[in-house]
Amino acid sequence: MKKIKNLLIGTNNKGKLKEIRALLPKYIKTYSTSDFNLKSPRESGKTFADNSIIKSKYFSKKTNLLCLADDSGLEIDILDKAPGIYSARWGGKNLDFKKAIKRVYRELDKKDKDWRNKKIKARFICVLSVSFLSKTIKCVKGKVEGTISNIPKGKNGFGYDPIFIPIGKKFTFGEISPKLKYKSDHRFKAFKKIKKFL
Ligand code: IMP
Repeated sequence: MKKIKNLLIGTNNKGKLKEIRALLPKYIKTYSTSDFNLKSPRESGKTFADNSIIKSKYFSKKTNLLCLADDSGLEIDILDKAPGIYSARWGGKNLDFKKAIKRVYRELDKKDKDWRNKKIKARFICVLSVSFLSKTIKCVKGKVEGTISNIPKGKNGFGYDPIFIPIGKKFTFGEISPKLKYKSDHRFKAFKKIKKFL
């Protein structure tokens, strides 16, 4: 397969951009949506896959570049998998992650007053897609299981990282080094499946 030279990373989320750039081989010249002053499309899909493909097609059409896009989020079992595809939207217009985390705790309090004494099962999901114009070349999913921390911990990462403890570990994604997180999370697992298509 011919190796690609140029790739647009279809996200306006700085945390994701950093993480995806760190995973890509150095010979690929990457572009970001801010290089083209592009706003994100409306995420009207019902699944992570729908929304990932909406983004990769939209940004590819706008730039004529091959585009890799990500749609991801946190699923919490006792909240019927919320926030799920609404993970970014729980942070409001300004993607305020502190606000999103407060909402998680509020919803957990509503569901079960004693949740802090229980194992609250959750997982991060990431669906990566690669599209060129209106054709999707590949779409894959990665996930990492874990639990919700009683209090936010750590200053690394973005989004819900301070409240997510990956399975078998004692620390949240917000407490571990970015390098370690990048090599073990949902995005990395999805990336492993899609890298041969780049
Ligand atoms: P999207 O841009 O609609 O895919 O938004 C995904 C949202 O899910 C982000 O804004 C974060 O709140 C959350 N999220 C996805 N991946 C991660 C991660 O690796 N760490 C923390 N939060 C994440």
